[in-house]
Amino acid sequence: MSKVLSVNAGSSSLKFKLFDMSNEVILTEGIVERIGSDEAMFTIKVKQEKIKKIMAIKNYELAVSLLINSLTHHEIIYDLDEIKGIGHRVVHGGETFKGSVIINDDVIKQIGDLNDLAPLHNPVNLMGIKQFMSLLPNIPNVAVFDTSFHQTMTEDAYLYGVPYEWYELYGVRKYGFHGTSHKYVSTRVRQILNKDDAKIIICHLGNGASVCAVHGEKSIDTTMGFTPLAGLLMGTRCGDVDAAIIPYVMTKANKTLNEIEADLNKKSGLLGVSGLSNDSRDIEDGINGGNKRCRLAQDIFIRRIVSYISSYHVLLDGADAIAFTAGIGENSTRVREEVLSKLSVLGIKIDHEANKVRGSEQLISTSDSSVKCFIIPTNEEVIIARDVVKLIIKN
Ligand code: ADP
Repeated sequence: MSKVLSVNAGSSSLKFKLFDMSNEVILTEGIVERIGSDEAMFTIKVKQEKIKKIMAIKNYELAVSLLINSLTHHEIIYDLDEIKGIGHRVVHGGETFKGSVIINDDVIKQIGDLNDLAPLHNPVNLMGIKQFMSLLPNIPNVAVFDTSFHQTMTEDAYLYGVPYEWYELYGVRKYGFHGTSHKYVSTRVRQILNKDDAKIIICHLGNGASVCAVHGEKSIDTTMGFTPLAGLLMGTRCGDVDAAIIPYVMTKANKTLNEIEADLNKKSGLLGVSGLSNDSRDIEDGINGGNKRCRLAQDIFIRRIVSYISSYHVLLDGADAIAFTAGIGENSTRVREEVLSKLSVLGIKIDHEANKVRGSEQLISTSDSSVKCFIIPTNEEVIIARDVVKLIIKN
C-alpha cells in the first residue's frame, strides 16, 4: 500500500491528510491550530469521528511530533515506515520551480531564497518541511508550489506595464496562486468532458479568490498577481486597485506604507465595503435583511467575477466549461446564480434547480447552454499526494 501524507503548514496551524494512494482514499485528516499557545487545538478524524483535544502546543516541533505519534496511537497506521512520502504545500516557487520537486538541501536553499516574494508564507512552509525531515529522516519529502501551475503563462500575460528592469532585477511579474486547486478542478473537468484540450474557466471563490483560464493542462492567465492581493474582491483583500490610491491615502490619512498594506490585505474586500464581515454567509444574511452595504459588497464581488470570466472567454476563443470551487463557489447558490445570470448574453444558461446543491460535484447549466457550468469541490491535498506518487513512489 502506498500511503502518502499531505501537509499544509501555516503560521499557527498545520493541516494534514493521509491518503492511501492505491485508491486515493483518505485514511485520516486533521489540523493543529493555535500552535504556540497554551490552548492549542488538535483535531484528528478517526473512523469518521472527529477527536478534539485542547492542550499546550508550544512550537512547531511539538505540533509535528503530536501529529506523527497520533497516527500510530489511533492505529491509523502501525508503523511510520508505511508512509512512503510527504508532500508539502509551499506558497511561492517563483520562476525557479515550474513543477513539484523532491526536497534536498539545494531545494531548501532555493525556497529560502524566495522568502522575499512571500515573507508571510515561505518561511513557515520551510519550517514545517524541516520539522518533518528531522523527525522522520527516512521518509522522502516533496514540495508542491501554489505558483508552479501558472508558470505556463506567456510574457504578455505575466508582465506588468512597468519598467522592464523591475522584472529583471526584482522579479516583479504575475505569478498567480491557488495553482493546486486550479490544477485539480481543471483535471476533473477534462475528465468529465472527456476532452484533453478543453478550455476551462475556473472560479476559486473562498476567503481568497481567483479566476483562472486553462487550456488543456496549461494555465493561460489568472487574476492573482505578484501577490495574492490582486484580481477579485476577496474576504478581506481589495483585489485590483489603482496603485496611485496608495500614496494618496498615505498622505491624506497620515498612514505608513505598512499600515496601508495591512488595510488592503486585512480590512478591504467584502469586509471593507460592507463594514460588517468578510464571511460571504454574513453578507448574504445582510442582503436578505436589506443591508445596502452588503448588497454593494456583493455587487462589486460579482461584477469582477463576471468581468474576468468574460475576458477569459474571449482569451480562450470560447470556453468549453466554467467551474466553481472553494467555500463560496461550492456552497453559495446565490453567488453562482448572480454570476451566471449576468453571462446570458454569451448564451450561458443556468439550471436553477441543479444549482440548488451545496458542496457536491454537479452540472448546473441547461442542456442548451453555450458553455457547460459545473460545481467541482476542490481537493488540493490529493494533487499534492499525486505529485509525491509521481516523483517518489513511481521512480
Ligand atoms: P479559504 O480556504 O480561502 O480560507 P474557503 O474556501 O474555506 O476559504 O471559503 C471560505 C468562504 O466560504 C467564506 O466566505 C464562507 O462564508 C464561504 N462559505 C462557506 N459555506 C458557505 C455557504 N453555505 N454559503 C455561502 N458561503 C459559504
